[in-house]
This record gives sequence, structure tokens and C-alpha cells, in this order.
Amino acid sequence: MGIPSRAQDIRHRMDEAAKRAGRRPEAVRLVVVSKYRTVDEIKEAVRAGLVDFGENRVQEADVKRHELAELPELPELDDENLVWHLVGHLQSNKVKRALALFDWIHSVDRVNLARRLNRLAEESCTTQRILVQVDLAGEETKSGLPAGELFEALEQMGHLEHLQVEGLMVMPPFLPEPEEARPYFARLRELRDGALRRGGVAGPLAELSMGMSHDFEVAIEEGATMVRIGTALFGKRPSSRPSFVRGDAAPRKEGQ
Ligand SMILES: *Cc1c(COP(=O)(O)O)cnc(C)c1O
Repeated sequence: MGIPSRAQDIRHRMDEAAKRAGRRPEAVRLVVVSKYRTVDEIKEAVRAGLVDFGENRVQEADVKRHELAELPELPELDDENLVWHLVGHLQSNKVKRALALFDWIHSVDRVNLARRLNRLAEESCTTQRILVQVDLAGEETKSGLPAGELFEALEQMGHLEHLQVEGLMVMPPFLPEPEEARPYFARLRELRDGALRRGGVAGPLAELSMGMSHDFEVAIEEGATMVRIGTALFGKRPSSRPSFVRGDAAPRKEGQ
């Protein structure tokens, strides 16, 4: 199966999951996670009608957007039509570049980072859409704001006028059975609802970014508005980033 038929299959499964939960299928956005993938693979996904792309490194996104901008062979490949999402950890020294590259930042995990984003967004006269990443597993390796600190953080972010806090994001620990992730997804939704009931927090908090290739249907049943999908669309991820991104070789040519 190629990318177009996999895209169709994923969209169909998304729509069915939304209907099972009594939700509108249009309310769920498919964010294609294109980390480690080549620009040719991204182009194929764009031709299949996909517009939202997620990367987990600022540097990798920078190189790829540059490459894509040079190759507008078809109007739908025009980089201007695509929406870029940062789904990986953001270091403070990359904030300025991230603001220039991403329409959405899903991984804001500390108030200080939000403040810095706000300050630099103000300097460039923009408003940045962000999501707050919440750590629900308490594992040391995972990033995310501890759930116990969420409400206070959202109150503080409410004062940052150049940020739109669109919602919350979670990355549960890897669990073999998709059903095992359900409590994490439900918990994220409850936290969001709790924040809205409480009031006085940053908003609008309409989005829940949760669910990946192996558990997106469960996430949608629990209220996901954005699912982040890589392997289900492209196949197994290569073990290293493409050489043109690592900068240690010439860009790969078509068909190589
Ligand atoms: C890689 C990644 C994904 C996609 O994972 P798949 O299992 O390939 O769908 C989703 N979210 C984040 C934050 C990621 O880093």
C-alpha cells in the first residue's frame, strides 16, 4: 500500500472513530508527523491531500521547509498552503526560529518557555498558537508539565497576550494495547474541562492533541481534535534522520 491509500485508510478509521463517539469527523485534524522522512515522502503526502505536518526538531523542519520551498512543481506543493506543527521538545535558544517556522507549537511544557515565546512573538508582531504538553505518566524521560501544576501555569499564561493557548497535548508512555492509553486521553480531556470550569485561565483550550499511529482511534473516542501520525502513513521509521537533514552529505536525489 502506498501513501495515498494509507492516507485514505487512516482518514476512514478516524471518521469512524469520531462517529462512534458521536462527534463530527471534521472536528479531528490529521497531523502527519514527518520527522526522519525525506522531502519526497512529504511531497507524496501533500499530493494525497494532506496539509498538516509535524516535526519534532526545529533544525530538521528548517531544512525541509527550505527544500520544499524550492520545489513548488504543483500548486498544492506550495509551502504556503501547508500548516506546520512542532511536536517535539523546544529549547529556549530555538524559540525565535520556532516562531518563524511553526504555525502551532504542541510542546510548551514550562511557563518560562511560554513567557519567552510571548516576548519574541510580540517583538515580531505576531500571535503564536500553542498547546501545553502535560506529563501524565510521571516518567523522568518524558517532557511535559506535571498535571498538578497545570492550572496555575494556565493562569499565568492567561496574561501572555501574544500567545493563543489552543489546548493541551499528551504523549502517554508506550503501551502495547491501544486501550491501555485510554485513561491518559480521558484524563487530558478532564484536565481541560476542569481548567475551563475553573476559569481565569489562558484560552481558548478547544484542542486536544493526542493519539499516534497505534492508538489514534481510542484518542478520538476520548475527544482528540488532532492526532499525530507517522508510521501508519509512511511505514516503519528509518533509524536515522535523512542525510540532507544531518548535513553530512549532499541531498538525496529523486529515486535514489
Ligand atoms: C514521532 C511522533 C509521533 C508519531 O508517532 P507514530 O507512532 O509514528 O505515529 C507523534 N507525536 C510525537 C510527539 C512524536 O514525536
